[in-house]
Amino acid sequence: MALLDGEVYEAYRHELLKRYRQLLRTLGKNISKDKTKLIREAFDFAARAHEGTVRKSGEPYIFHPLAVAQIAAGELRLGATSVICALLHDVVEDTDITLDEIERRFSPKVANIISGLTKIQVVFDSVPTANNSLQAENFKKMLLTLGEDLRVILIKLCDRLHNMRTLGSVHDRTKLKIASETMYIYAPLAHRLGLNAVKSEMEDLALKYTDLTQYRFISRKISESKQNRQRYIREFIEPLKTELSNSGLNIAEIKGRPKSIYSINRKMKNQGIPFEEVFDAFAIRVIIEAPIEREKSDCWRVYSIITDKYRTHEGRLRDWLSRPKNNGYSALHSTVLGPKGRWVEVQIRSKRMDDIAERGLAAHWRYKAEHGDQTGQNPQDNAFDNWLNAVKDTIENNDLTALDLVNEFKTTLLGEDIYVFTPKGDVKSLPVGAVALDFGFNIHTEIGLRTIGAKVNNKLVSIQQELKNGDIVEIITTSKGRATNNWLEIVKTGRAKSKIREYLKDEKTKLSGRGKTIMERMFMKHDVDFTEHNINLLTKNYKYVTPSEFFHAVAEGKIRMTREVLLGIIEEKNIPAVNSKKEKKKNTQIVFGEDYEMPYSLAKCCNPLPGEAIFGFVTVGEGVKIHRTTCPNASKLMSQYGYRIIPASWQNVYETSFEAHIQVKGLDDVGIVSRITDIISKDMEVNMKSINIRANEDGTFGGQLEIMVNNSEDLETLVNKIKATHKYIEVSRVENIHP
Ligand code: MN
Repeated sequence: MALLDGEVYEAYRHELLKRYRQLLRTLGKNISKDKTKLIREAFDFAARAHEGTVRKSGEPYIFHPLAVAQIAAGELRLGATSVICALLHDVVEDTDITLDEIERRFSPKVANIISGLTKIQVVFDSVPTANNSLQAENFKKMLLTLGEDLRVILIKLCDRLHNMRTLGSVHDRTKLKIASETMYIYAPLAHRLGLNAVKSEMEDLALKYTDLTQYRFISRKISESKQNRQRYIREFIEPLKTELSNSGLNIAEIKGRPKSIYSINRKMKNQGIPFEEVFDAFAIRVIIEAPIEREKSDCWRVYSIITDKYRTHEGRLRDWLSRPKNNGYSALHSTVLGPKGRWVEVQIRSKRMDDIAERGLAAHWRYKAEHGDQTGQNPQDNAFDNWLNAVKDTIENNDLTALDLVNEFKTTLLGEDIYVFTPKGDVKSLPVGAVALDFGFNIHTEIGLRTIGAKVNNKLVSIQQELKNGDIVEIITTSKGRATNNWLEIVKTGRAKSKIREYLKDEKTKLSGRGKTIMERMFMKHDVDFTEHNINLLTKNYKYVTPSEFFHAVAEGKIRMTREVLLGIIEEKNIPAVNSKKEKKKNTQIVFGEDYEMPYSLAKCCNPLPGEAIFGFVTVGEGVKIHRTTCPNASKLMSQYGYRIIPASWQNVYETSFEAHIQVKGLDDVGIVSRITDIISKDMEVNMKSINIRANEDGTFGGQLEIMVNNSEDLETLVNKIKATHKYIEVSRVENIHP
């Protein structure tokens, strides 16, 4: 192998070869000689292209594409073409190699996938602007590739997973950004594609990088409770053993499935309960081996054996056997009253279903890619193809900003689906939360626009009625379109939203055309020239941004002018003085991204100080807020609004005082207040805004101080000095959970 000659790889030769051989072994024997040769070429090619480049961890770069290829082959079970692309995925982006060259040496198909992967990466390095966050642009590019070749996104997920696994050696700021992106879009995307294992690992790793203490705490607890878990499962199975072995069913495995670290943490935080309470609710998974035509009935037989012994929880039976979830998941879930009076969830599925549950539609899709589309009969295919079509619809069908598109994608396309019926019995799938009006647009744009209500299961309901699984929906229309801005708030689907926007835009254009005609006539009547200059004067006078908005207001009757007013404005007599807006102070103390400036303010919940690690959060009406990365709200912001997070850092700090809030508590001591105030004002010459310390009846004291400091170091010194005043005193920053 050519790379073996390269001096750079000398020390790594053995390890690289080992991993390369493992990759081939993972792909198995079904790979043709030609394909094997191509894989070898791709590996060689990538190794040479990346020669001399090292990762942050210090090892040669080629380890990364090789690992991504291993994930693709082993964990997603993708085929040879995907493996080749995974090996080459960073070549065009990071080296001088061109797509043409890839096409010549490999194939147009490979070049096409690499092109998709490269497109995603190019935007990664660009600079964010105030209205369009870098992440949103990025995600948009990525979503666009969903419409092309699904392998692009699958390889991207492998790439991201490997990056997450090896994030240990990168800068904290980058860690935060990558973790939040992962939580925002990659993990939900993996979930939607049915890649459960990838999704869970991504979430766990994201937690590890944002809250290491909690991550360690929970993983320690999980391993400590392993024995208890296994003992409980043994107790659970014991009474079922005879029945199961007499049944002739082929039970492959019964195991206790702990929740992921991330989901345990989320439950603990959301419900404010301790680890033990969340953890009690682990699931018992029964996996059977059965030929495909018998797997459903066998699952039901297992169910009946279990429920003969254990009482079932009413209303907790979930049958995803007859209608799999939209990401391909299929199984039978039930909750039963197990030993020790504990409610346990039991998940029953076949080996095949288990495989799909962990590796998702990628497995199915691989088959389709390598063998052509012969899988039309499978209902899961249809569900998935429908989803892909809806994705394409959303992507192609609008002029949304990147941020809106990503939001829309997240709310309507990454969620679960419900199935509803037309009166004729046709099934339509809609995202959870969809309302009657969405259904109208799902049938046809014309129908959507003219919807005034609906009959759901024969009952008259408003357009806002939320639909449920199995509803029969009949839309009631009128003869004219009635969409208003308000409708945008009502509908949940991207399709309905973009159609309503289009309609409103058309209406607006029509209306402002009418307004323009009204003004033209008025000008003529009063003998004023209808010039751009004059129209601009009017637009400005009535405080509209564009003439078309002004015309729009005229048509709506919001503006009426007498001859005197018109002439007054045109002759510039009556124009009110331009509002003297306070000039915004130029803040250059904080830069965003690599070196980008924009207005910001410091978040009140955590009052970040110079010297502390920070990030920017793009708010809806208040510009960018700066939080500490340790702010109690940070993880929520990052996981729910990851796309609004922008990396930020302190730079050229010129202001000398920043607000900081600290709280003190301790055992009461005469004169403690004066000692604290002495330190603040005399020792440190720190400016105090307020102090509020109270002695309590139980012999303790406590209170808060609002002070102005220069940076985090000052604050630390101050805190230490206060701590030194008294043996029994606690001093800490004040943090608010609600920003
Ligand atoms: Mn990569």
